[in-house]
Amino acid sequence: MTKNQGKGTPPRSKDVEAHLPMSAAIMEQFRQQLLEMKADLQAQVRLDQQAQKPVELDQARVGRLSRMDALQGQQMLQEVARRRQAKLQGIDGALRRTESGDFGECFVCGNPIDPRRLAVDPTSTRCIGCVDSE
Ligand SMILES: [Zn+2]
Repeated sequence: MTKNQGKGTPPRSKDVEAHLPMSAAIMEQFRQQLLEMKADLQAQVRLDQQAQKPVELDQARVGRLSRMDALQGQQMLQEVARRRQAKLQGIDGALRRTESGDFGECFVCGNPIDPRRLAVDPTSTRCIGCVDSE
């Protein structure tokens, strides 16, 4: 009537659970999160475009140092814009993966990425193991 009791090996349900494919509901949550991130970024881009008219320097009134400041400021803004663009591309890629069903899989090893990691950054494309081994 008893079968293999007292062997001391508990069922590894936790591990099994962690490797199940992501449920559609969770996938949808990430998709919404990504869409919100994208909308936020796009709103920032629009705001910047309104605020960031090409720097017109009045040679007569602006001293050399101020011109340098203005140019440095412009470079910083370009850097911010570039990073924002890269982020947007990451978000678009992740959104495509939620549609194709690949979302949450590591690009390198194909294992599921820890959902806690995805919650922090849904655009993650590598599991923690592959990031660490870089
Ligand atoms: Zn990996």
